[in-house]
Amino acid sequence: MSDSCIFCRIASGDIPCSKVYEDENVLAFLDLGPARPGHTLVIPKEHCSGLLDFPAEKGSALLAAIQKVAAAVVMTTGAEGFNLIQNNGAAAGQSVFHLHWHIIPRVEGDGIETWKPGSYPDTAAMQALAAQISSNIGK
Ligand code: 5GP
Ligand code: ZN
Repeated sequence: MSDSCIFCRIASGDIPCSKVYEDENVLAFLDLGPARPGHTLVIPKEHCSGLLDFPAEKGSALLAAIQKVAAAVVMTTGAEGFNLIQNNGAAAGQSVFHLHWHIIPRVEGDGIETWKPGSYPDTAAMQALAAQISSNIGK
Protein backbone atom coordinates (compact mmCIF):
# COMPACT_ATOMS: atom_id res chain seq x y z
CA MET A 1 0.00 0.00 0.00
CA SER A 2 1.32 3.38 -0.99
CA ASP A 3 -0.31 6.51 0.50
CA SER A 4 0.59 8.47 -2.59
CA CYS A 5 -1.03 5.95 -4.96
CA ILE A 6 -4.65 6.72 -5.82
CA PHE A 7 -5.49 3.09 -6.67
CA CYS A 8 -3.97 1.82 -3.40
CA ARG A 9 -6.22 4.32 -1.63
CA ILE A 10 -9.23 3.06 -3.58
CA ALA A 11 -8.26 -0.57 -2.79
CA SER A 12 -8.01 0.24 0.94
CA GLY A 13 -11.39 2.01 0.92
CA ASP A 14 -9.79 5.35 1.75
CA ILE A 15 -11.19 6.81 -1.50
CA PRO A 16 -14.62 5.69 -2.76
CA CYS A 17 -15.20 3.96 -6.08
CA SER A 18 -18.07 2.45 -8.06
CA LYS A 19 -17.15 -1.15 -7.29
CA VAL A 20 -18.24 -3.95 -9.60
CA TYR A 21 -16.15 -6.87 -8.27
CA GLU A 22 -13.87 -7.70 -5.36
CA ASP A 23 -12.06 -10.77 -4.13
CA GLU A 24 -9.09 -11.32 -1.84
CA ASN A 25 -6.55 -10.02 -4.34
CA VAL A 26 -8.45 -8.10 -7.00
CA LEU A 27 -10.73 -5.07 -7.21
CA ALA A 28 -12.72 -3.84 -10.22
CA PHE A 29 -14.47 -0.48 -10.44
CA LEU A 30 -15.79 1.94 -13.05
CA ASP A 31 -13.32 4.32 -14.64
CA LEU A 32 -14.07 7.93 -13.66
CA GLY A 33 -13.41 9.09 -17.22
CA PRO A 34 -14.95 6.31 -19.32
CA ALA A 35 -14.30 5.81 -23.03
CA ARG A 36 -17.84 4.41 -23.02
CA PRO A 37 -20.29 3.72 -20.15
CA GLY A 38 -19.26 0.54 -18.37
CA HIS A 39 -15.51 1.15 -18.92
CA THR A 40 -14.10 -0.77 -15.97
CA LEU A 41 -10.68 -0.95 -14.33
CA VAL A 42 -9.34 -4.17 -12.82
CA ILE A 43 -6.45 -3.87 -10.36
CA PRO A 44 -4.48 -6.16 -8.09
CA LYS A 45 -4.97 -4.86 -4.52
CA GLU A 46 -1.26 -5.19 -3.93
CA HIS A 47 0.70 -2.25 -5.31
CA CYS A 48 2.89 -2.71 -8.32
CA SER A 49 3.54 0.00 -10.85
CA GLY A 50 3.18 -1.95 -14.09
CA LEU A 51 3.07 -5.38 -15.67
CA LEU A 52 6.80 -6.01 -15.41
CA ASP A 53 6.85 -5.85 -11.61
CA PHE A 54 3.74 -8.00 -11.16
CA PRO A 55 4.47 -11.51 -9.77
CA ALA A 56 3.63 -13.77 -12.74
CA GLU A 57 2.55 -16.65 -10.48
CA LYS A 58 -0.45 -14.54 -9.42
CA GLY A 59 -1.47 -13.99 -13.02
CA SER A 60 -3.99 -16.79 -13.43
CA ALA A 61 -6.20 -15.60 -10.53
CA LEU A 62 -6.09 -12.10 -11.93
CA LEU A 63 -6.95 -13.30 -15.43
CA ALA A 64 -9.89 -15.28 -14.04
CA ALA A 65 -11.19 -12.10 -12.39
CA ILE A 66 -10.73 -10.11 -15.62
CA GLN A 67 -12.74 -12.73 -17.52
CA LYS A 68 -15.60 -12.63 -15.01
CA VAL A 69 -15.73 -8.84 -14.98
CA ALA A 70 -15.47 -8.54 -18.79
CA ALA A 71 -18.34 -11.00 -19.28
CA ALA A 72 -20.52 -9.02 -16.86
CA VAL A 73 -19.61 -5.68 -18.50
CA VAL A 74 -20.52 -7.05 -21.95
CA MET A 75 -23.78 -8.56 -20.67
CA THR A 76 -24.78 -5.38 -18.85
CA THR A 77 -23.95 -2.87 -21.56
CA GLY A 78 -25.13 -4.94 -24.52
CA ALA A 79 -21.67 -4.61 -26.07
CA GLU A 80 -20.68 -6.62 -29.14
CA GLY A 81 -17.08 -6.92 -27.94
CA PHE A 82 -14.55 -5.30 -25.64
CA ASN A 83 -10.98 -4.07 -25.54
CA LEU A 84 -8.67 -5.21 -22.77
CA ILE A 85 -5.98 -2.55 -22.50
CA GLN A 86 -3.08 -2.24 -20.11
CA ASN A 87 -0.75 0.75 -20.46
CA ASN A 88 2.86 0.59 -19.25
CA GLY A 89 4.81 3.82 -18.93
CA ALA A 90 3.88 7.43 -19.64
CA ALA A 91 4.86 7.04 -23.30
CA ALA A 92 2.23 4.32 -23.60
CA GLY A 93 -0.45 6.47 -21.98
CA GLN A 94 -0.15 5.24 -18.40
CA SER A 95 -1.24 7.98 -16.02
CA VAL A 96 -1.82 5.98 -12.82
CA PHE A 97 1.25 3.98 -11.85
CA HIS A 98 -0.55 1.10 -10.16
CA LEU A 99 -1.04 -1.85 -12.50
CA HIS A 100 -4.52 -1.91 -14.03
CA TRP A 101 -6.44 -3.31 -16.99
CA HIS A 102 -9.08 -1.32 -18.83
CA ILE A 103 -12.14 -3.24 -20.00
CA ILE A 104 -13.87 -1.09 -22.61
CA PRO A 105 -17.20 -2.34 -23.99
CA ARG A 106 -17.45 -1.84 -27.76
CA VAL A 107 -20.12 -1.76 -30.46
CA GLU A 108 -19.62 -1.47 -34.22
CA GLY A 109 -19.12 2.15 -35.29
CA ASP A 110 -18.67 3.53 -31.77
CA GLY A 111 -15.85 5.76 -33.04
CA ILE A 112 -13.20 4.70 -30.52
CA GLU A 113 -9.85 4.56 -32.28
CA THR A 114 -7.07 2.12 -31.53
CA TRP A 115 -3.80 2.24 -33.50
CA LYS A 116 -3.33 2.75 -37.22
CA PRO A 117 -1.43 -0.25 -38.71
CA GLY A 118 2.10 0.51 -39.95
CA SER A 119 4.51 -1.71 -41.91
CA TYR A 120 8.12 -2.98 -42.08
CA PRO A 121 10.43 -2.10 -45.00
CA ASP A 122 10.62 -5.81 -45.91
CA THR A 123 10.34 -9.33 -44.46
CA ALA A 124 14.08 -9.45 -43.63
CA ALA A 125 13.81 -6.36 -41.42
CA MET A 126 10.82 -7.91 -39.68
CA GLN A 127 12.65 -11.22 -39.13
CA ALA A 128 15.75 -9.40 -37.82
CA LEU A 129 13.72 -7.48 -35.26
CA ALA A 130 11.94 -10.67 -34.15
CA ALA A 131 15.33 -12.35 -33.66
CA GLN A 132 16.63 -9.37 -31.65
CA ILE A 133 13.59 -9.38 -29.35
CA SER A 134 13.84 -13.15 -29.03
CA SER A 135 17.48 -12.88 -27.93
CA ASN A 136 16.41 -10.54 -25.11
CA ILE A 137 13.69 -12.79 -23.68
CA GLY A 138 14.32 -13.43 -20.00
CA LYS A 139 17.09 -10.83 -19.66
P1 5GP B 1 -4.06 4.86 -17.49
O1 5GP B 1 -4.04 6.12 -18.31
O2 5GP B 1 -3.04 4.93 -16.37
O3 5GP B 1 -3.96 3.60 -18.29
O4 5GP B 1 -5.50 4.81 -16.85
C1 5GP B 1 -5.83 5.44 -15.65
C2 5GP B 1 -7.33 5.53 -15.63
O5 5GP B 1 -7.72 5.78 -14.29
C3 5GP B 1 -7.91 6.68 -16.47
O6 5GP B 1 -8.75 6.14 -17.47
C4 5GP B 1 -8.66 7.55 -15.47
O7 5GP B 1 -9.90 8.00 -15.97
C5 5GP B 1 -8.85 6.61 -14.29
N1 5GP B 1 -8.83 7.26 -13.00
C6 5GP B 1 -7.91 8.15 -12.54
N2 5GP B 1 -8.20 8.51 -11.26
C7 5GP B 1 -9.32 7.82 -10.92
C8 5GP B 1 -10.10 7.76 -9.73
O8 5GP B 1 -9.82 8.43 -8.72
N3 5GP B 1 -11.17 6.95 -9.72
C9 5GP B 1 -11.52 6.19 -10.83
N4 5GP B 1 -12.61 5.42 -10.72
N5 5GP B 1 -10.81 6.22 -11.97
C10 5GP B 1 -9.73 7.03 -12.01
ZN1 ZN C 1 -0.88 1.47 -5.69
